[in-house]
Amino acid sequence: MVLVGGVDIGNSTTEVCIGQVDDSGKIHFCSSAMTPTTGTKGTIHNIVGIKDALTKALEKIQKDISDLDEIRLNEAAPVIGDTAMETITETIITESTMIGHNPYTPSGEGFGLGTTVCIKDLFNVEPGKDYIVVIPRVVTYEEAAFLINEASKRINIQGAILEADEAVLVNNRLNRKIPIVDEVKLIEKVPLGVEAVVEVAGQGKTIRYLSNPYEIATLFNLDAEETKYVVPVAKSLIGNRSAVVIRTPKGQVEERIIKAGALEIITPNHQMIHVDIDEGAEKIMDLTKEIEEIKDIKGEPGTNVGGMLNRMKEDLAHLTDRPMEEICIKDILAVDTLVSNPVEGGLAGEVSLEKAVAIAAMVKAEQLPMEKIAKKLEEEVKVKVKVAGVEAVMATLGAMTTPGTKLPLAILDLGGGSTDAALIDEDGWVRSVHLAGAGGFITMLMASELGIEDRTLVEEIKKYPVAKVESLFHIRMENGEVIFYKEPLNPKYFGKVVVLTDKEMLPIEKNIAMEKIVEIRRQVKKKVFVTNAIRALKKIAPFSNIKNIPNVVLVGGSALDFEIPDLILEELSKIGIIVGRGNIRRIEGPRNAVATGLVMSYGGLVK
Ligand code: ADP
Ligand code: MG
Repeated sequence: MVLVGGVDIGNSTTEVCIGQVDDSGKIHFCSSAMTPTTGTKGTIHNIVGIKDALTKALEKIQKDISDLDEIRLNEAAPVIGDTAMETITETIITESTMIGHNPYTPSGEGFGLGTTVCIKDLFNVEPGKDYIVVIPRVVTYEEAAFLINEASKRINIQGAILEADEAVLVNNRLNRKIPIVDEVKLIEKVPLGVEAVVEVAGQGKTIRYLSNPYEIATLFNLDAEETKYVVPVAKSLIGNRSAVVIRTPKGQVEERIIKAGALEIITPNHQMIHVDIDEGAEKIMDLTKEIEEIKDIKGEPGTNVGGMLNRMKEDLAHLTDRPMEEICIKDILAVDTLVSNPVEGGLAGEVSLEKAVAIAAMVKAEQLPMEKIAKKLEEEVKVKVKVAGVEAVMATLGAMTTPGTKLPLAILDLGGGSTDAALIDEDGWVRSVHLAGAGGFITMLMASELGIEDRTLVEEIKKYPVAKVESLFHIRMENGEVIFYKEPLNPKYFGKVVVLTDKEMLPIEKNIAMEKIVEIRRQVKKKVFVTNAIRALKKIAPFSNIKNIPNVVLVGGSALDFEIPDLILEELSKIGIIVGRGNIRRIEGPRNAVATGLVMSYGGLVK
């Protein structure tokens, strides 16, 4: 009887399975555990995590590492996933042209057009004309209201821009109400003597005119060329309660196109396929689909994508201690996305959503130094350590412990850094692939589309449903269900959209509608895992026909997701493929497949 530990070092998680193998080869599974992977997968930094996971699993059966007869490490495919994103164009407005924000208390309703004038100069301007008055904080709301009322006898004041948070106080004292935008911190930057429009939407509404480039063009009499330049301005104002757009003198707006660059896909017979990033993700993916095997992908030197691909190669070269020339990109997943970019020239942190292409890439080197880890670990724990078995094969073995499965069987391992697939047939033949793009890529895409920098929060938004706190005693879930509370909720949640993790309610401190969050979340998951499920299955399917795959078991951390398995099933059921989340050894759910497979492969029972 021997005690064997299977260890699967993943990009995100290190998983362990402990099993007893008796003399006849019968396996009795005893325990399992997991910890976050320490350091980059395939480096000796992983050892801390390995020991931690083993100790945790062995404690459960009152044993420790020295009781093991053998530790079996996964022979990790020498591939590393990385992600990056490139904006296609960027528009820069060199002068202050706009103020668009959502102060809590703008006042008035509608819009006004006029020439900007400082409140101190109200009595020195040409009579009979339309003006927008600019009011710095030094002027009190009472003074401001008095001056506007007086000046209105000889000029038409159409709107106001206020530094202080006093729009309502000013408007209440005016004989004729005007739209007022307040809390404009950089008031001294508002140019004077130029045309401007102030718009304030009614309560619960968003602005209509300044978020439409043609309306801005109409208001300012712009020609077609000039209209083109106000598009980013209009875009960044969409969804605001109030806004100001100021016309800049000609020649101060420039559009700078950042060269996104091109990809060069190289095939084993030295064919080179060229594709421009700005043709969009779909074009890139269409091209790669037709290529049976990618030898390497290069990025155009001197462009963003060139830099990005080189960085990935450098990292792996460093990691594996190999020259950079030996490192090749074997797969990419390109996705069209949006990034929020600050608009230069804005006065209140305005951002515009720019089109971007995000890329996840799979970098391959000759071999990951797993042997090095094995040797070091063996020295430290004084137990025999073996690098045993290809990860995908082990995952398939483990997946077979899911009740109801039979050969031939395909697995999709939805991890953090890559989507792996393997197919094992009745004769023990295994085919496997590792594709770029997985859970980590989803988190990155969601972060950029939602404009939330806190990755930990985005990770939770990915994993759990959201709800809107409508009162202190009830919330409305994203599926419409209403949950009531006996005790009042903490007032900090009031009116917010929250993530309902299994431990707590996390407020999302950002003005995004719940529906929008749900939409972005599902779209991104689909773009990554539905696309990858199909790509992966095609590559392992007999005769490249996905219909030749009867059953698919989903394993890996992202198979725990509350909607990813359904999204994949929805798509694959259209072609008659059965897909389900694995349940390794009836108890682990989709986790622990590789570690379990490693124990099962002990003693050469399975190759
Ligand atoms: P690896 O094998 O690369 O270490 P894992 O199989 O551990 O990866 O999967 C890690 C991924 O699974 C991460 O992207 C993580 O966000 C995701 N994940 C983990 N738990 C859940 C969950 N409950 N719901 C959705 N995704 C999850
Ligand atoms: Mg894994």
